[in-house]
Amino acid sequence: MTVLVSNRCEQCVALEKVHHQKMEHFIGLVECQSVLFRRGRARAAKDLDVAVRKAKEEREDALDALLKHSSDHNKAATTSARTVAYR
Ligand SMILES: [Zn+2]
Repeated sequence: MTVLVSNRCEQCVALEKVHHQKMEHFIGLVECQSVLFRRGRARAAKDLDVAVRKAKEEREDALDALLKHSSDHNKAATTSARTVAYR
């Protein structure tokens, strides 16, 4: 069952949580890569490129899923509000 709490359902909260985790993971990798570059370990830093790119894609996918759901969600909320108003 979907519970509405200030226009956010359980799926909104779950998708926000996934997006947050993907973002933290991405930021962590970028920070790690920056530290390696600063310490002159360019080769080791370059080795993280693939992981950084993958983490960035996952973060973007998580954001897309969140935005798509929230758009569908708002449409559904508007429709049900209208349905209630016409009764
Ligand atoms: Zn929702």
